[in-house]
Amino acid sequence: MKLAVVEGDGIGKEVIPAAIEVLDSLGLDVEKIPVELGYGKWERTGSAITDEDIDTLKECDCVFFGAVTTPPDPNYKSVLLTIRKELDMYANIRPIRPLPSVKGIHERNDFNFIIVRENTEGLYSGIEEIGTDISTTKRVVTRKGSKRIADYACKLAKSRMNKLTIVHKSNVMKSDKLFLDVSRQSAIDTGVLHRDELVDSFAYNLITSPWNYDVIVTTNLFGDILSDMSGALVGGLGLLPSANIGEKYAFFEPVHGSAPDIAGNNRANPVAAILSLKMLLEWHGDLAEAAIVEEAIDVALNMGICTPDLGGKHTTSEVGNTIAKYIRTKM
Ligand code: ATP
Ligand code: MG
Repeated sequence: MKLAVVEGDGIGKEVIPAAIEVLDSLGLDVEKIPVELGYGKWERTGSAITDEDIDTLKECDCVFFGAVTTPPDPNYKSVLLTIRKELDMYANIRPIRPLPSVKGIHERNDFNFIIVRENTEGLYSGIEEIGTDISTTKRVVTRKGSKRIADYACKLAKSRMNKLTIVHKSNVMKSDKLFLDVSRQSAIDTGVLHRDELVDSFAYNLITSPWNYDVIVTTNLFGDILSDMSGALVGGLGLLPSANIGEKYAFFEPVHGSAPDIAGNNRANPVAAILSLKMLLEWHGDLAEAAIVEEAIDVALNMGICTPDLGGKHTTSEVGNTIAKYIRTKM
């Protein structure tokens, strides 16, 4: 596998090396191509991402990404938006699974669900008219966009509990009727058990009874909000991985940002990045390796090897090192 590795800025420079140590411990045949992107590069060269960088990303099988800082400078071109657009990554996948020894908001930890968020249209279409007295944003739902995300979610559901929840607000926004109809049809065609819920009552149900869900498919804005909210269920930003998937490209990154407040101290939690690596391995078909990475994370946390955000006293590199060491004993 040819892997583009982007550390980026801030704690990206700490969590990615820890995750790469874990990758190396697996002994897979991986060619790593380092790509410098982000604010640091912008300060140094005047551009955060170049056309050549995009070509390099496209030449790789997939991208493993840390985090980039986005300054409030109008001349700064957002790295993530550029990549998402260039690589046409339509599906944003966020699995929410509690980890041992980490408390979320519930006593029960027998839940494990995945939010599949449409990543290219909906209320983030970017079609806007801004005025002094009236400003509008156009909510775009297409049959093609809905079908590809619903098909993805159904395929995922089939590999799990075969349970899909379609989240929408079609009673108020008629554009969601198309999303709902297409999603239902996709579930029927693929034989996936499905139900639908209105987003408002769904938000209540998800946070109070997360154990009732398996795969959730929804439109862009709802997915954005629901997945950040779900972070509360597992106890922190340092634990949430994500994948961005397109027809041709795939991109894996922790949900958290560059956290400038703690950067440079070797205290960022690398688990979100290492779980993103696990998703990358699954996507690539290295299922046994993905399973051992997950097991190794559980072992380290159970041993109390964790960073200060989880109440531990270990460094980023110590956590990565412990996980990599455990894997080496198993390979
Ligand atoms: P950015 O603009 O790059 O998103 P941010 O200031 O919003 O940066 P985030 O990375 O989104 O920072 O994180 C928000 C808060 O959560 C930070 O203050 C940080 O301390 C904490 N945090 C985020 N990720 C981690 C992590 N991996 N380990 C420990 N704490 C983290
Ligand atoms: Mg942030």
